[in-house]
Amino acid sequence: MAYQTVNPANNKLIKEYPSHTDADVEAALSTADALYHSEWSKGSIDKRLAVLHKLADLIDSRTEELAKIASVEMGKLIAQSRGEVKLCAQIARYYADNAKQFLAPVKYPSEMGEAWVEHHPIGVVMAVEPWNFPYYQLMRVLAPNLAAGNPVIAKHASIVPHCAETFAHLVREAGAPDGAWTNLFISSDQVATIIADDRVQGAALTGSEKAGSIVAAQAAKHIKKSTLELGGNDVFVALDDADLEKAVKIGVNARLANAGQVCTAAKRFILHEKVAEQFLEKYTEAFRNIKIGDPLDESTRLGPLSSKDALETLTKQVDEAVKNGATLHYGGKPVQREGSFFEPTILTNITRDNPAYFEEFFGPVAQIYVVKNDDEAVKLANDSHYGLGGAVFSKDIDRAKKMASKIETGMVWINWLTDTAAELPFGGVKRSGYGRELSDLGIKEFVNQKLVVIR
Ligand code: NDP
Repeated sequence: MAYQTVNPANNKLIKEYPSHTDADVEAALSTADALYHSEWSKGSIDKRLAVLHKLADLIDSRTEELAKIASVEMGKLIAQSRGEVKLCAQIARYYADNAKQFLAPVKYPSEMGEAWVEHHPIGVVMAVEPWNFPYYQLMRVLAPNLAAGNPVIAKHASIVPHCAETFAHLVREAGAPDGAWTNLFISSDQVATIIADDRVQGAALTGSEKAGSIVAAQAAKHIKKSTLELGGNDVFVALDDADLEKAVKIGVNARLANAGQVCTAAKRFILHEKVAEQFLEKYTEAFRNIKIGDPLDESTRLGPLSSKDALETLTKQVDEAVKNGATLHYGGKPVQREGSFFEPTILTNITRDNPAYFEEFFGPVAQIYVVKNDDEAVKLANDSHYGLGGAVFSKDIDRAKKMASKIETGMVWINWLTDTAAELPFGGVKRSGYGRELSDLGIKEFVNQKLVVIR
């Protein structure tokens, strides 16, 4: 696929980026591998952490410029782009401050002798990343791997080349050597070649199930570690004792932020029958008042989807859902204006035989389900191929905690939407993937946890 910047707010082509050749790929591999065998990766962590500190400062100082690039390229509201940029600086700073401790040797008491586990880099890591958080997705891979000493070769989504290039420049400007982070505009076949190469030891992918399954199979074929962060069909449960005002307000944001294109967005709203009607009424009213428009306009509340393709896919999904018996409670079609906008949409009466029941809607489409009790809510929550995040709203924290324990996902938030922070592990189970990013867990994914014993 050609690497192009197209503004989804008007679908106008801004710039095309030439693809990298096979010779470029070979040069990238050779530079990254040489770096791995150098003092940069094998020596003291301090110089790598200094780069992360500088990177965090650089990102903070360029917030406005970086935010605008993302908003123009993939349609994110400007305030949300600023939030993403800020989060990237926080992640870089978090690993700069904590990686040394995370990677310090850990003692293992044993009768066999004095034993400990050391943490060493493993080599070059291939990262395949999506467009929905065009900087954050890259930072989640860069920061821990740079700290650990693994050079990264990155293939970003073909619709966000400007973000990809800008991020790579920032990493260089922060003082990272050649090969520490190499952005390549390459095809899936070239990704496969890189993963198969002996100089590469791991693959991290965030994106669709389809891409995840292909990339993980390639890694497995060559006995290489992979991490996958794929889609989700997260529930947002409002119990009968929930603070409804709060639940509705957060529920709107949980579904509409980033135009609904978030893996951990609330997609299935599970409402206790005692509050369902009231919730739906308030929720619909909130959707009715959403201002749709230019993502660069500070007053806009819902921007475009990331591309024409995304709009087409979502339109088809909603049409299919309705054809299969769902009720279109609100919205349901592309907005009549230039650009890739879709109305905030609410679907009800989705039965289990409707394909929509199991599908992820990557856009501003909320599915509403009504349940009689907590057990039914848990059963419905777990009746999914996915297992990424989830939210439970209740004033009774013990009750919410019980439910959180029973929901089969990698993350559950109580009285808040599924969120992210540098210090919290992020990842899922089932078809949402495996492995964790961020926190102390994230940095351990691509390191050699080497046991040493003195006997
Ligand atoms: P994709 O999985 O197709 O894209 C994600 C990344 O994977 C992109 O860099 C893409 O490159 C790359 N890719 C795709 N196929 C391959 C392959 N065979 N080998 C190597 N790399 C590959 O996601 P889409 O952008 O098409 O979005 C489709 C769906 O994926 C969404 O509707 C959503 O369900 C899910 N998704 C989940 C995300 C998450 O945060 N977990 C983020 C984005 C999407 P290229 O752009 O060149 O195709």
